[in-house]
Amino acid sequence: MEHIVDDIKVEWEDIGEGLSGDFNDKDPNDISLLRFYVSVKDGGEWAEADDASYCTRMPTSTPKDILRKGLKLIYDRVHDIVKNGSIKKICEDLSWLSPETFNICSKCWQNLANHNDDGSCVLD
Ligand SMILES: [Zn+2]
Repeated sequence: MEHIVDDIKVEWEDIGEGLSGDFNDKDPNDISLLRFYVSVKDGGEWAEADDASYCTRMPTSTPKDILRKGLKLIYDRVHDIVKNGSIKKICEDLSWLSPETFNICSKCWQNLANHNDDGSCVLD
């Protein structure tokens, strides 16, 4: 999934990462996580921005609506800076991105219907 506007691209990739390094599918407590990349079109070619790719707390199983919100959030944070300066600090902070960033608790990552319009959880 990717979000492209103004020659800036933000995308999610699953490169097999988990909570600590490679995802371990034998470990029931591990979670398969997504990494984001930020690229800028330069002379007609996409070039990855420096220090702008981090693994996040966003599970690969996260519903698409939330993933879209995540890409938009990353895009909005880096947009004004990425063509002129370093976004390393911003991207480091964004590595904490998770469904909880959008008020979806970990119990409900698979079922957003559990959340009321005000963000509160019917399971709490
Ligand atoms: Zn919930």
